[in-house]
Order: sequence, then structure tokens, then C-alpha cells
Amino acid sequence: MMRTNRKSGSPGELGKLKILLPGIPSRSSRGWFGYCTVILFPLANRWALFDTGHYSDRALLLESLQKRQIDPAEIGAVVLSHLHFDHVLNVSMFKNATLIVSKAELDYAQMVSDGKITDPSIPDFWPVLFEGQDVQAVDDAVELEPGLKLVNLPGHTPGCLAMFCDDGISVAACGDVIKNGWEALTAEAGSPGSTSDNLQENIKFIADRARVIIPGHDRPFILRQNGIEYLTDVTWQVQGNFYPRSRDEILLNLEMKGGYCPKP
Ligand SMILES: [Zn+2]
Repeated sequence: MMRTNRKSGSPGELGKLKILLPGIPSRSSRGWFGYCTVILFPLANRWALFDTGHYSDRALLLESLQKRQIDPAEIGAVVLSHLHFDHVLNVSMFKNATLIVSKAELDYAQMVSDGKITDPSIPDFWPVLFEGQDVQAVDDAVELEPGLKLVNLPGHTPGCLAMFCDDGISVAACGDVIKNGWEALTAEAGSPGSTSDNLQENIKFIADRARVIIPGHDRPFILRQNGIEYLTDVTWQVQGNFYPRSRDEILLNLEMKGGYCPKP
């Protein structure tokens, strides 16, 4: 189900932002799955992405671009919400893209590389991802083009960027500034960099400026007075090969409907 607060027709299209891969808010006994939201959007004369996902997203990302008849070489810009592995590991697919990242995040990743702080989600080899690419390091706020603005909202990491798009409908692509509906509803930070204080501040900042919120690891939603309204359904399937159980057995087949969910 998809409610009608959108301009365009298909689920995952929010104004000019098209969700190529939906974020999945889940982890396993072996850690985070790390499936983040990947968004396609047009700039004046080129295609752009907001985040790229990680290696296990690569085939699906390629497929979803191919479905739209877009070659990776036609992606002219990639906004990196931050430099955690689950958002950046596919940048090497986009050789012609300018990589847009905040100065604060580059400084932060450098401090991790220098051993001054610890963040195991920053890939050790992150500078290699930038080699040979055009890099645009942005300050606290920058307008990419009219109606499309990036704002650095520290919390999850010091250099987290959210993207605000005003295209008849106001939408915020949040990266991990808001990871999922639970965080938005409770302002309880679920990761080491965030505190409830900065999360609360960031939720307010975003909600004051955007009607639709696209979190880093969940479906898009609208924040309501006493709950959230998810704008899309999602299906999340996990398969396994646990011999002697059947091959490619479906271990989880979760089907979540869109619609209003009251506060816990
Ligand atoms: Zn993430």
C-alpha cells in the first residue's frame, strides 16, 4: 500500500527521489546486515545517488539501474551520507561520479585511520575508495541546486549528511541521522555515536523541514503527532542452506504493510 502524499506513481518514488534499494532495519546473531537505503535522483545534467550500499547490494543495485536503463558510467555524482562501510562500499562502481562528502566526515575518518578514535564501521581502506575520483568536500550546509540541500547533522558520526529535497513534496533523505522508525518515535539512539540528545535535536530539525522522512535503514514515513505513517510495504526474506534442511529454505518471510503505526 502506498498513500497518496506523493507526486508520482510507483512505491518508492518521492518527488524526484527514487528509492532503488530500501533500507532494512535488522541484524542477526552475526551482526548487522547493513542494508541501507540507496536513492537515485536527477541533477541538472546528470544522475546522482544518495549512498551506495555495500558489496552484497552490488548485484541488486546494478539490476535496479539497468531496469531504468541507466549505466553506472552515467552516474555523475554520489552523495555519501557518511563513511560507514554499509553506505560506501559500492562507490567504485561509479568511476565518473563526483563523490560528495562532508569535510567533518573526512576529518573523522582520518582520525580513525590515525588511531586517535575507534570506529570499526569505517573501512580501513576508505582513502582508496576516493583515489582517482573527483571529490567535493562540503561544509555544514550546501545547496546542490535549487530545492536540493545537504546539511551536516552530527550524531551517528560527526559528518553525517542529510539531504533535503523540495520538489512539490518536501523529503529528507537522512542517512543514519535517523536510521529507522523506532529511532524517530523514541529518540533512543541505537548506535555508539548518537546520544538521545543529538538524536532528538536532529529529529526536530528534520521534521521541521520535511514532510517525508527516508531513514538510512527503513522505509520512508511521515512523522505524525502520535506515531508514524509508513509510505510503502516491505518484504524481507532470508534464506539458508542448513543441511540436512532443504536447500534455499526460506527462514524468514516478513511482509510489512505500509500505514499508520502508533507510538509504543
Ligand atoms: Zn548505516
